[in-house]
Amino acid sequence: MCQSRKRVNVYYSFLFLVPKDTFCSIENILNTVKILYTTDIHASPDHLFSMLSIAKNEGVDSIIVGGDLIPHHLPDERQSNILKAQAKYLKDIFVPAIMNFREQKDICIYLDMANDDYICNRDILQEHNNDLFHLLHMEKHHLTDTVDIVGYMVVPPTPFNRKDWEKPDTPEFPFSPGNQVQLSGHISSNGILEKAVIDLNSSDTIERDHHQLSEIIDKPFIFVSHTPPYRTPLDVIYNGLHVGSLSVRHFIEKWSKAGKIIASLHGHIHESPGRSGEISTKINNVLCINPGQESGRSSKFRYVILQLTGAFSSGIEILKTEAGACVK
Ligand SMILES: [Zn+2]
Repeated sequence: MCQSRKRVNVYYSFLFLVPKDTFCSIENILNTVKILYTTDIHASPDHLFSMLSIAKNEGVDSIIVGGDLIPHHLPDERQSNILKAQAKYLKDIFVPAIMNFREQKDICIYLDMANDDYICNRDILQEHNNDLFHLLHMEKHHLTDTVDIVGYMVVPPTPFNRKDWEKPDTPEFPFSPGNQVQLSGHISSNGILEKAVIDLNSSDTIERDHHQLSEIIDKPFIFVSHTPPYRTPLDVIYNGLHVGSLSVRHFIEKWSKAGKIIASLHGHIHESPGRSGEISTKINNVLCINPGQESGRSSKFRYVILQLTGAFSSGIEILKTEAGACVK
């Protein structure tokens, strides 16, 4: 059993301001909203429970998970197939844990699957969408009266077999040069594992999705994208190569110029903070974060606590980063 450890390692505390919205109320001026952001909780079966426990103890208003929900090496994997094992985990452990949590605490949760979670089981999450939690992919939700949250979970091609959540990044830059990607793998959209090959000439790209997503943006927003932006301290793999998304980078740049994006939250490259030494960076003064994640039972659970600040919640600060807690 995991033992609760003292929280240490407060690395950052700084403030980023973005242009103000025009809407005004006393409540919005005085209100501060506290957010627990984490990602890749699939890295340990303990991370889901650590996340819920810490959210309670920290008194946050919202939890945001940046994708990859279902743990590796599920106990039922050997008896049945991986699709059934992932479905069983969602039904028997994930949804009941969040249901139990929401019965005790009125804390909003925003999350979605990502490239390690087979998409055929997303309907199990859909049943509870906008009730127990809000699904993020290609959606916009109201985080506060003045701030939205917008999500995107597809990643550029990877060296891995699961292809449900992979697409070419842009037509000219389908994936990072030098990355040893595997274009063939399996998809699950028909409820069975079927062979598939990513078509690098397809017009169905991450960039095209971002154009579509841009059409629903009106208010200031926090962006949650499983893949981090290309060529940042947030997208560095074990050999030092940058493998993030160029389109994500362009999306952040575009919306920073429009004064709408407050922060951009990422994951996917668990090891990036260990390689680059950074969990955050700025693109055009927009705070971008990948807290990373650690693997295996009783491993460190990595997350950040954020706070929306200022009039209209127009700024954001990192209150703390943690890599030491494992609480059940
Ligand atoms: Zn992951």
